Amino acid sequence: LVEESYKKIQEVDGKVQAFLTLDDENARQKAKELDEKLGTEESKNILFGMPIGIKDNIVTKSLRTTSGSKILENFNPIYDASVMGKLHQANTITIGKLNMDEFAMGSSTENSGFQKTFNPWNLETVPGGSSGGSAASVAAGEVPFSLGSDTGGSIRQPAAFCGVVGLKPTYGRVSRFGLIAFASSLDQIGPITRNVEDNAYLLQAISGLDPHDSTSADVDVPNYVQSLTGDVKGLKIGVPKEYLGEGVGEDARQSVLKALKVLEGLGATWEEVSLPHSKYGVAVYYLLASSEASSNLARFDGVRYGYRTPNAENLMELYKKTRSEGFGDEVKRRIMLGTFALSSGYYDAYYKKAQQVRTLIKKDFEDVFAKYDVIIGPTTPTPAFKIGEKINDPLTMYANDILTIPVNLAGVPGISVPCGFSEAGLPLGLQIIGKHFDESTIYRVAHAYE
Ligand code: GLN
Repeated sequence: LVEESYKKIQEVDGKVQAFLTLDDENARQKAKELDEKLGTEESKNILFGMPIGIKDNIVTKSLRTTSGSKILENFNPIYDASVMGKLHQANTITIGKLNMDEFAMGSSTENSGFQKTFNPWNLETVPGGSSGGSAASVAAGEVPFSLGSDTGGSIRQPAAFCGVVGLKPTYGRVSRFGLIAFASSLDQIGPITRNVEDNAYLLQAISGLDPHDSTSADVDVPNYVQSLTGDVKGLKIGVPKEYLGEGVGEDARQSVLKALKVLEGLGATWEEVSLPHSKYGVAVYYLLASSEASSNLARFDGVRYGYRTPNAENLMELYKKTRSEGFGDEVKRRIMLGTFALSSGYYDAYYKKAQQVRTLIKKDFEDVFAKYDVIIGPTTPTPAFKIGEKINDPLTMYANDILTIPVNLAGVPGISVPCGFSEAGLPLGLQIIGKHFDESTIYRVAHAYE
């Protein structure tokens, strides 16, 4: 499997450009070791020996981890993220590290400090972002599994654009220890796979309480694969009118209506519901995420990590030049926006107000989930857009996340599963959103539909 993976990478990665770093020597070594163990109890774990790609904001011991940024170009972590420890226990084999928007800020992977990644379905279009490398590598058949991270849609949106399955777990379900922080109250690591069953196996392996992350939750991890029964009889689906309304393309709307028909045919029912505050989601998110980022990224000062400017005369200059030279434009934009929103005199008007609206958004979900088992809508308003189309217009780029962001703000889990194609032949995604810690129901519905 490992050889197949590298063979495919050799064949297609020149075009797709999903990988930033390959770990072939170690991977081959590990594969050899595991071959020796075939037939043992340990080898019966379904993930045993499975090749996996890792988004480059998840730290990997002694394996270069850049977070897509020049400021970490030569950063070799001295420890593994908790999810990596769990993967080692399951005996997966890390093939390499995957391209992403710098510090996970972006929706197209065009903000990477190193290279663009191209959508395997149509190389003129973006793979989505920020986990563009994670989704494209699975879609191109380079790896069967990958990990991404999702702060405002970065697993689900690229999964939708690349025609694969991507899940953002409930906030707290998966440890963030060793995930390079973007917006700590929103970030979650999650699996990207070719189908729902693989996704359930991978989430199973990485979930659970972690003493190294105080926001990881002490909630039992059920057997996700057992919930893939195919049975959705009597299931109640809420379809927010805001998710099929203005700004959502006809392709996306029609594909969701078709999917609802399929689920109806299987015995589920659906009704229109409302998430009235979701229209504020993008504004709230960009204030809060940027505020948290401005604080999280303060640690990149040229002293402790990664890049340091060679031309500084004093400490202030060292900070300034390191950060000016090391960070890309989008990251600087967010740091400035976040610093402004948190500054005295503006805090109440922006940060505090955004937190209050976040609570209203969360409450919208609670109200719907009091009556319905899942919420369904499109993952994105449109299929993959052209490379270069939105990169000079940050606000249109931000607006692309309108359907995924409310899920992060509420902390609930959501999946994107393939849901037909647009007229232009590009994949579309169906988003299924569940109650806190109820990934099982999401998987059950996704699997029945798939
Ligand atoms: N596209 C969003 C942003 O730029 C979401 C990114 C993410 O989920 N990491 O912030």
